[in-house]
Amino acid sequence: MWQAEVRIDLDAIRDNVALMRAGTTAEVMAVVKGDGYGHGMLPSARAALAGGATWLGVATLEEGLVLRRAGLDVPVLAWLHSPGQALHEGVTAGIDLSASTLGLIDELVTAARRAERQARVHLKLDTGLSRGGATAAEWPAVLEAAAKAQADGDIDVVGVWSHFISSDLPDDPTVDHQLAAFADGLAVAERYGINPRYRHIANSAATLARPDAHYDLVRPGIACYGLSPVAGRQFGLRPAMTARARVAQTKRVPAGQGVSYGHTYYTERETTLALVPLGYADGVPRAASNAGPVQLGGKRRRVAGRVCMDQIVLDVGDDEVAAGDVATLFGPGDDGGPTADDWAEAAGTINYEIVTRFGSMRVPRVYDGDAATGAAA
Ligand SMILES: *Cc1c(COP(=O)(O)O)cnc(C)c1O
Repeated sequence: MWQAEVRIDLDAIRDNVALMRAGTTAEVMAVVKGDGYGHGMLPSARAALAGGATWLGVATLEEGLVLRRAGLDVPVLAWLHSPGQALHEGVTAGIDLSASTLGLIDELVTAARRAERQARVHLKLDTGLSRGGATAAEWPAVLEAAAKAQADGDIDVVGVWSHFISSDLPDDPTVDHQLAAFADGLAVAERYGINPRYRHIANSAATLARPDAHYDLVRPGIACYGLSPVAGRQFGLRPAMTARARVAQTKRVPAGQGVSYGHTYYTERETTLALVPLGYADGVPRAASNAGPVQLGGKRRRVAGRVCMDQIVLDVGDDEVAAGDVATLFGPGDDGGPTADDWAEAAGTINYEIVTRFGSMRVPRVYDGDAATGAAA
């Protein structure tokens, strides 16, 4: 009998990707970094491909190699590399690699020669996020080096790309500014003879709300998992993850009883406490102490007192709740149940962090849906 579990509805992932695929003429790269945002990278990747994604996106080379080792042979882009990574392994595995510095282009040339195969490269332009990517000032030198390496046959510039600052606010002026900067960067690339097959800048929010940003390829992550990047809009997406546990113990306690570490919660009247075996080691944010919503016995409750490493306590009043009953922390929100968005609000974070945290080793992930059959294969 399961005690706590994270259920993943792979059909939801497939259908969310299909929804985005239907909304664009661009190809879809499903972003499966961070262990598929906590949903499991490989099953999520397979479900996304079943939904029409033709690319997979990851942050690190190692994540890309895991996809290849599992036999996934679709185009994969990995975009975050410190100097000295085993890039030749990525080149050998046919993984597309991002580059935005002269140092990395040099390393890719070396890697390509060692692998005796052209490196497939996406040049990244920083259009304002000030994270990865070449600045506008660095861009011409990066293009010049890339054009030379391409002429020498060492690299194939497959893509030019960038990333948004605030596309979760689709009308934010930075979106227009960045699109203009991206268009400028593409024009400069053309002057260096670089006309990539794939120009891409759209994450989930821009995929859903800014069709003018789609270009040749869109890179949705969070939306594949059914969570919306844009506050107050769901876009027809269905959340794929449900986190739940069976009550381990119940007890009657008097009014004025302090609950959990530090006694930050006191019962108002004689009541029943229910112990739920999920804690911060499993992904429950401690910041949601006295705030996180849990569905139990047909009602929504709040965590009473501090979230512990392994458990939380609920004050259920005089309701009939017994050990073994199922407490749902979050799920698709059917029948008014709490969602990852509700937990994000309770913990002062974003839905991305909530689901990604629930990838711990302790709680088994259980895969549901027709897509699970294909995903298991
Ligand atoms: C994580 C990430 C994405 C996906 O972002 P979402 O907001 O989850 O859609 C796309 N591109 C890059 C570069 C990323 O790091």
